[in-house]
This record gives sequence, structure tokens and C-alpha cells, in this order.
Amino acid sequence: MINPKEHILKLRKELRDHNYSYYVLDRATISDFEFDIKLKELQDLEAKHPEFFDPNSPTQRVGGAVTKNFETIQHEHRMYSLDNSYSKEDLQDWETRIKKLVDGDIQYTCELKYDGASISLTYENGLLTKAVTRGDGFQGDDVTANVKTIKSVPLQLKGDYPIKFDIRGEIVLPFEGFNKMNEERIEAGEEPYRNPRNTASGSLKLQDSAEVAKRPLECLLYNLTGPEIKVSSQFESLEKARAWGFKVPDAAKLAGSIDEVLKFVDYWENRRHDLPYETDGVVIKVNNLQQQEELGYTAKAPRWAMAYKFKAEQVSTKLNSITYQVGRTGAITPVANLEPVELAGTTVKRASLHNADQIEKLDIRVGDEVFVEKGGEIIPKIIAVDINKRPVDSVETQYITLCPQCETELVRQEGEAQHYCPNYNGCNPQVIGRIQHYISRKAMDIDGLGGETVALLVNEGLISNYSDLYELTKEQIIPLERMAEKSAENLISGISKSVSIPFERVLFALGIRFVGETVAKKLAKHYKSIDAIAKATEEDLVNVDEIGVKIAESVTAFFASEKNLNIINRLRQFGVQLEISADELEGQTDILKGDSIVVTGVFKTISRNDLKKLIEKNGGKVSSSISSKTTYIVAGDNMGPSKRQKAEALDIALISEDKFLQKIK
Ligand code: AMP
Ligand code: ZN
Repeated sequence: MINPKEHILKLRKELRDHNYSYYVLDRATISDFEFDIKLKELQDLEAKHPEFFDPNSPTQRVGGAVTKNFETIQHEHRMYSLDNSYSKEDLQDWETRIKKLVDGDIQYTCELKYDGASISLTYENGLLTKAVTRGDGFQGDDVTANVKTIKSVPLQLKGDYPIKFDIRGEIVLPFEGFNKMNEERIEAGEEPYRNPRNTASGSLKLQDSAEVAKRPLECLLYNLTGPEIKVSSQFESLEKARAWGFKVPDAAKLAGSIDEVLKFVDYWENRRHDLPYETDGVVIKVNNLQQQEELGYTAKAPRWAMAYKFKAEQVSTKLNSITYQVGRTGAITPVANLEPVELAGTTVKRASLHNADQIEKLDIRVGDEVFVEKGGEIIPKIIAVDINKRPVDSVETQYITLCPQCETELVRQEGEAQHYCPNYNGCNPQVIGRIQHYISRKAMDIDGLGGETVALLVNEGLISNYSDLYELTKEQIIPLERMAEKSAENLISGISKSVSIPFERVLFALGIRFVGETVAKKLAKHYKSIDAIAKATEEDLVNVDEIGVKIAESVTAFFASEKNLNIINRLRQFGVQLEISADELEGQTDILKGDSIVVTGVFKTISRNDLKKLIEKNGGKVSSSISSKTTYIVAGDNMGPSKRQKAEALDIALISEDKFLQKIK
């Protein structure tokens, strides 16, 4: 029998090795399932033996620490930016300049320029102690808790690392993960993220590190800094970093001349789209560190390095027309309709124009020949107009002043880039979008009613807000396209069932700007009824945990509207839950606080749904699948064999219905 300390250390090492293979070498050495079992084993041991706690244990990767304000930290070694070059001549000029300053031949290390958020990591005795953003180069933000959740960042190093050093790199969000995040956002009715780079840097400043842990970020390293680094060249330092456990892409190459550098550039200019993450150029560094030291720095960049920007893929085409889209919140987006053209492997027909300022700045006009570029954004953008090809009769673009859908005069709040249609209750896309949100799965989850039917109902004049849904009759619906007796019945019954949806979800369903699922839950728990929320002042609201000024303003504005209050009163008449129900309030406890419980099987004295409610009422969390995070399982009859197997493998206790009910009595 090995002692607990040894056991803990052994598990940590095993898990670290698996993590390293998977996230740094891209090679799986264990199944997810087995990994979970080991992780759970380690978690249990660590819980039993808090004396062996280690902030760098693999169990700490899941996050949990919340940072309210990121501390500003002075960089021990300044983080410089890079000079840019765009042509062979630029590079040759650079070589001429530096050859005057150093003796001997110059070799270059060519690396890819990763497009993400730069980061500086500090390691002491092989342990990650600090992760700081670049900031202004002199000081940045301490984002250690968040960076620890990035699996390719080693928490403990291997091999012959120096006692203390800094390593710099770039935190990127690979395309695959980025696209997946966006799919989920679109499904939840949220705006998709614009590009991976901004999303990566935004992730580093999230307050909840558990949220960061869910994002598939990666950290690619390229520079060692500090007096204890005992290497003589940049290329060697990349190899060292790799040997200590860092993720250092293997694209880097040595070049003996600018011509060889250009070969590297050419190669990647064509192949960069095959990489899993975004790159925007190549970084060329004098390889010899002695020479680097002699060259030194200008006020903002090293003299020994140069970025070479890839030419963004660009084509020119004709702008046929500008149309304007109205979003669910009333925001107007101008869209350029282009003569179809091939760009980076896809046919481009449309490009985003973002807002009025953008059109004015570039002086974009219908009929112009425009340059279209595909950067990190999913939708290509127009970057310039070919003035030479402008038709003589061209007229300046007048941004619309009226909503293209309802002809209401648009407004533009001070400091905002976007125009809005303020016709909240009468503008078709807003009206339809809001009802579509109301019925969506995470909101009222109305079965039998889809987004297209909502549009149809609105366009036929049968409904104009979500409270109208409850007055629909079968006779009104049957004549509609693709509707029949049965589908109409389903629709009506789906709507009437929604009156049992709990208050917090109703609050989310109302579609108040900035009130997402989490905020709705918070508000519901705090105020307990819609009337209390409606009465709350901005000052009251901002005192609630996690409610900021923006949300408070939006909530008070919503309830200041007579129309909204009328709609809410109608919902009340139809029986929609506008307060936490008496049962919910009664017997609320904290007994199960922090517990994650899985419910499975058939129960004798209570329905499965009521059981779930009971768990939540007592402060617990109901989870649908068994994982290493499950506290225990409440098991009824006929529990499935695969669940049982998984529970056994993860050593998670099963509790009977009676036992559970006793526990919370
Ligand atoms: P810029 O922000 O355009 O001045 O470019 C400088 C930035 O490029 C640095 O702050 C790094 O974050 C980033 N960068 C990306 N890849 C590399 C690399 N291989 N070597 C050095 N810097 C890099
Ligand atoms: Zn409108």
C-alpha cells in the first residue's frame, strides 16, 4: 500500500503526462473516460488530504477562482512590439542596417507570427507563478488564474529548466473551437464573436476562470527572457522551451540569407490556411543572441527582429447595392451586395459595412469598384474604394434615416456606432425576433411552435407580442400554410403548457436587453417577483451581485414602458409564472449547496421532475450526466447499466429515493 502523498504525486505526474501528450504534442495517450476516473481519484485524495494541496495540481485546471479586478503588474523585462516590413526591399534595408551594427555573418530564425493575445509567463523552480498580459509593454494585467486553465500551458516543467525565467508567447483560439463557440452562441440567440483574436484576448479578462476553462484556448511560445537563460541562439531557445514542456510550433526554420527568409515567407503565405489557428505574418529574428544584444532596441521594438506581414487576400469587385438589416434588438447593419467574386477559396457576394461611420470613412458608393479582404472575420470586409474606377455620375451614399422595415426614424445614442430602430413594438423583425426568443428552448420552450410559424403568425396579423400567443385558437391556425388539425392542436397545447415554466425562465424569455439566462436567474432569486423588479430603481439593481449599470438601465427602461407593463399584465391573466412559486419559496434551504447531483431511474413516491425541483430548492445543482464532478446519484428503479458502470468506475455513491428524502427533511 503506497502512502497517500506518494499516491497523490504519482497521479499528478500521470495526469500531467497525459495532458502534455494531448495538448502539447496533439497525441492522445488515454481515453477521456479513463482520464476522468484518474482525475476524480486525485480530487478525492486531495480532498481527504488538504495538507498536500498544490496550486499547480492538474485538478486546478478546471478553474473556479473569480477575479473582480485584475491587478496591474510591472513587467520585469519590457514587452516590446515589432517593426513591420512588407516587401523584399524592406527586408534588405533592414539587413543593411543591422550589418553595420554587428560583426560576422548573420543567421535568422524564421517563425510564424501568431495572431492572438501576447502573454508573459513567469516560472520559478519549474512552477508557473505568474501570467501577465502585455498591456502597454511596461505593465500588464495579472491573469494567472485564467491562464492556468489553458491546458497547453505547463503548470510544472520538465528537464533542465532555469530556476527563474520569463517566457513569452501568444494565446490563440484555434478556428475549430472558435466556430464551435459561435454555433452555440447563435443557437442561444446571441451575437457571434467577430474573430478569434479578439475572442482570445477577451477570454483572458473574464472574471470567472471556470468560464475560461471551457474555452479551447492554446498558448504558443516563442521567446525566453531573463538573466538565467543559458542558450546562445533563438533557435536553440525554441528547442529548450519545447523540451521543458511548452507548446512551440515546429514551423520555425533557420535561414542564412534574406533570400532564404523569403522562401519561408512564400511557403507559408500559401499554406497558412492549413494551420489550425490564425497567423498574420512571419517574424524574422537574428539567431545569435550575442548579436541580438549588440543590436539592442529602439524606443518600441528590438532592432534584431522584424515582422513581415502576409498580404491579406484581396480582390476587387463591384458594389451593386447597399441593404440594411434590422436585428432582434433593433440594431441596423448595413450590408454590401457585391458582384460575386472568388476570394480565398470561397465565393463572396456580401460584405459587412458595420455602420454609418465606416461607410463615411471609406466614402463607399454604389457602383464603386471596391477592394474586399478576408481577415479573421467570418464575413469579408471592404477595405477601400478604387477611386480611379469611380463612375462619373457616382453619388455619395446617404445613410438611411428611416427603418427599412417600418419607416420609423432611426436613432443613434451618443457614443454608439450603431443606429437603432426605436419602434420596439411595431417593427416587424424586432417583433418577430422577440417572440422567437420567447418560445425558444432555453426560454419558454414551447413545443409545436417554430420560428417560421411565429413569422407567419405575425405577418398574418394574428399576434403582435408574446402575450397574444395565449389567445390563439385552433380555428385561426388551421388555415395557415403547412398547418393541419393535429399540428394546430399541438401548437395550442404547447403554448398552454408554458404557464408552468418557472419565473426565472419567464424573465429571460421577456427578452430584456442584456438580461441573459444567468442575469435572469440572479434577478429572480433576489427579487422573487416581477412586480418587485419593476419597482426597483437603478441604484437598487446595481446593488445586486453581478448586476452592472448597463443591465440596470436596460431593466428600468423596460419596465418604464406602459406597453410592456400591459403585456406583462396580460401574461399574468393567462397564468404565466411572474413570481417564484410558493412551493419554490417554501422550504428553500442550503442543505445541498455545492452538490452536483444526477437523478436517474423510476421513483415511487415522487416524480423525477419534482425530485429535481427539490434538489434545486435545497441549493443543489441537477446535472444530466455522470462525471468526476458528480457528488452522488439519486437512483430509482431500473437504473441503466451503462450509468451504473460509469458510477462504479468513478466511485460515485448511489443514494436511494428514501435516503435522499430523509437527508433533506
Ligand atoms: P504587433 O502587435 O503587430 O506590433 O506585433 C508584435 C506582436 O506579435 C508581439 O507582441 C507578439 O505578441 C506577436 N507575435 C506573434 N508571433 C510572434 C513570434 N513568433 N515572435 C514574436 N512575436 C510574435
Ligand atoms: Zn423598424
